[in-house]
Amino acid sequence: MSLLEVREVNHSYHSKKLFKWKDQSNRALIDISFSIEEGTCLGLLGTSGAGKSTLGKVVLGIQRPQQGQVLFQGYNIYNTDKHTQRNIRRNLQVVFQDSYSSVNPHMTAERIISEPLDNYEKLTLNEKRKTIISLLERVGLSEKDLNKYPHQFSGGQLQRINIARAISLKPKLIILDESVSSLDMVTQRLILELLRELKDDFGLSYLFITHNIKAAFSISDSLGVLEKGELIEFYDRKDQFFSS
Ligand code: ADP
Ligand code: ADP
Repeated sequence: MSLLEVREVNHSYHSKKLFKWKDQSNRALIDISFSIEEGTCLGLLGTSGAGKSTLGKVVLGIQRPQQGQVLFQGYNIYNTDKHTQRNIRRNLQVVFQDSYSSVNPHMTAERIISEPLDNYEKLTLNEKRKTIISLLERVGLSEKDLNKYPHQFSGGQLQRINIARAISLKPKLIILDESVSSLDMVTQRLILELLRELKDDFGLSYLFITHNIKAAFSISDSLGVLEKGELIEFYDRKDQFFSS
């Protein structure tokens, strides 16, 4: 069984009919099917408007598609009981692009990282602090960073904090939604390196959504190309295309 399976997903946005003669429906996703095996990274490459964010939201469970199914460990994420939903949510984390606007500026690194732990684990204060320090160290930061606020970090460091938060519950799958796209080339390379390490160390799986072909190649085991809502091409690491 695949960790994640997306089956014939279709989704359109309907805007208000301003002009009766114009078809106002916008097909954002058309017959999308793919799967992600445990411990692998699937890259989804596409230009702006291709449907990447919509697909990210569909997989994350926050945008129910009009047609099709999303199965996580065999469970239909849009049609399952509360307990399973909670279990899926802890195992499916996300790291967004714009690190500054995705965090609360009044929260310290410690609080940002501890949020998922507070929701899902019953740890003593001492245990929690120890866990957060080891998470910070795991992503290349340190205890000194516990009480700093987002504006005191660089973009790359802040993305490390978002990654620490995402791995804190030992999830199965992380959706990386343009997670390195706003970083400079050098920082991008370092964050990709960290992501690859974490993937190997913990058997993590990624859905790596990006418009950046180089980044996608460097981390993905297989790669899909999304264009105008359709998955038009698919490559595997084994294909020659990858190694060229
Ligand atoms: P990408 O992330 O690849 O840029 P999106 O998933 O954001 O693509 O968008 C796919 C298509 O759906 C685009 O044509 C976009 O204009 C449209 N779209 C996205 N969100 C909405 C929305 N909330 N309402 C209407 N149309 C939308
Ligand atoms: P330590 O043994 O000092 O905690 P590890 O390298 O084993 O160091 O773990 C570092 C951090 O990574 C820990 O805080 C732990 O919560 C987290 N971690 C451990 N296993 C996993 C996993 N399977 N997925 C994601 N994060 C994990």
